[in-house]
Amino acid sequence: GTGRRTLVAGNWKMNLNHLEAIALVQKIAFDLKPAELETVEVVVIPPFTDLRSVQTLVDGDKLALGYGAQDLSQHGSGAHTGDISGSMLAKLGCSYVVVGHSERRADHHEDDALVAAKAKAAYAAGITPILCVGEVEEIRAAGTHVEHVLGQLAGSLAGITAEQAATIVIAYEPVWAIGTGRTASAQDAQDMCAAVRGKLAELYGDAAAAGIRVLYGGSVKAANAGELFTMPDVDGGLVGGASLVAEEFVGIVRSGP
Ligand code: PEP
Repeated sequence: GTGRRTLVAGNWKMNLNHLEAIALVQKIAFDLKPAELETVEVVVIPPFTDLRSVQTLVDGDKLALGYGAQDLSQHGSGAHTGDISGSMLAKLGCSYVVVGHSERRADHHEDDALVAAKAKAAYAAGITPILCVGEVEEIRAAGTHVEHVLGQLAGSLAGITAEQAATIVIAYEPVWAIGTGRTASAQDAQDMCAAVRGKLAELYGDAAAAGIRVLYGGSVKAANAGELFTMPDVDGGLVGGASLVAEEFVGIVRSGP
């Protein structure tokens, strides 16, 4: 999209142990030329248990790759067994954290209010949220997908200030396209990403909305990324399955401008 730096983020989900993580990051970093990493911002989002290894590798080899986590607690610290705080992630050098992924909304019943609380916790730790929204197939079939997604967006941004929102990343991920091989058409992705930007303008003003990156996610691969990324309101991709294969992920990065 216009004037915004393309972002390609690889969501590994619950895949790869720390040794496999090191091998994949090394391959990605070896394949991408410094100039490619300047035009496109490349981020990997491993499981929590891989983050320390990724940090050591990125710091030690001064890799121009960012990384982040797939979730965080809405709480700052304390008696929350099994949870991971924003400050723990910040200490591990995470620049980003995914909030509101459809798999967490489904598996852990996360609602918009909780997603907003998690986004706030991310900002409190100095980490940028990648906030996911997207409709299930039935809602698209009913034709109410735009109002549904914009409702999710507004609810998940509750209490997020304009100053915070200026740096947020939104990922539009239609649930029917995640892990299914059924990518949204470039035009459908564009239409929703434009609607998301319109809502951001309503909430935070035109200037803020023009600077916020809106990604598409859902079965992005090297073969379809180019068409998606040339759409004016699509500023990159959140990539699941294809981010686990270095050649595919690098191919997606190369589909940027
Ligand atoms: C995701 O889970 O964020 C995603 C987009 O997955 P996939 O690319 O596998 O559809």
